Amino acid sequence: ISFLQALPKAELHTHLNGSIPLPILQELAHAFLDKSSVNGSGGVSAVSESVKAGIERLELGVELNEIHDFFSLFPAIYALTSTPQALRTVTLAILEAFLDGLKPQCTYLELRTTPRETPAMTRREYLEAVLAEMEKFDPEGRRVNLIVSVDRRMSEGVVDEIMDLAIALRDEGRRVVGIDLCGDPLAGDMYGFSKHFRRAKAAGFGITLHIAETPDSPASETLHFLESFAPTRLGHATFLDEEAMKIVFDRDIPVEICLSSNLLCKTVKTLDDHHIRHYLQQNHAIAICTDDTLPFRTDLLSEYALLLAKPPLGLGLSQEEVQEIANMSLSCRFI
Ligand code: IMP
Repeated sequence: ISFLQALPKAELHTHLNGSIPLPILQELAHAFLDKSSVNGSGGVSAVSESVKAGIERLELGVELNEIHDFFSLFPAIYALTSTPQALRTVTLAILEAFLDGLKPQCTYLELRTTPRETPAMTRREYLEAVLAEMEKFDPEGRRVNLIVSVDRRMSEGVVDEIMDLAIALRDEGRRVVGIDLCGDPLAGDMYGFSKHFRRAKAAGFGITLHIAETPDSPASETLHFLESFAPTRLGHATFLDEEAMKIVFDRDIPVEICLSSNLLCKTVKTLDDHHIRHYLQQNHAIAICTDDTLPFRTDLLSEYALLLAKPPLGLGLSQEEVQEIANMSLSCRFI
């Protein structure tokens, strides 16, 4: 563990609302439930029931039959992070979990989040709350930056608004370095999004796409992403066919690898079957990442430990190989 802890490395694929430490979410849930029991209207109580059920599911340990079950976790979490103050609280807790204290997980973090509009805040206020906490935590700007996520279920109008916002904030000197495409892998029609992503790329952002995450991700969509979205990195890239794989190798597009996430969402059966092996064989750039530490009950050191552990628990790589992988993660940063 001391070897892994001392290793300089970057966490490049972590979703804010999927990475809230459980005790912090429990505190937010208690405050929310106390407040709603005082208010006590019918609508509030339906949300309270969903928050209670969501927290219980997370406390027990999430069992997923397939990846689509995973997205039903978020409405309960979102009910608790719908104000600027709650967002600041969870952002700080995540920064501390990854970068501070006696057990730092990494030397550099690109945290990603989807700006939501709620009765208590605009999308700009959402991003400003997250950025304010990042800038306070790391005033010199060396350890943490923000990737703005776009959800596949969004309308093109909202995507356009988010790109405007990301560009405006970056031009004001705020820490926005990239744009991500995320969300339920089969939702939405992605053909209209390409012009917005090309605009973001032209504006100087790194582009990362959740791509080919499930066996039913259409091959035509994967090729469209690679040809028309100008990605700088890819998330998961689990089910690339030969044609897509060739493009990824020819263009040297680094891949963010989330081992536990793929195993728990059952898109990969065993570590032995994991596509990381393919990328390692080709010496292709990868970054080991956590994805969502809250439901997957993992952290970055545990993900790296899977590289070192002997099979069948891990991949049985040497310390030198793991060091090289950690170096790769630093070279894939959007700065
Ligand atoms: P947020 O962007 O901070 O709200 O983080 C949670 C969101 O990230 C979820 O609602 C999903 O849209 C997205 N997300 C988290 N994990 C995954 C994944 O494995 N695949 C696709 N999207 C994901």
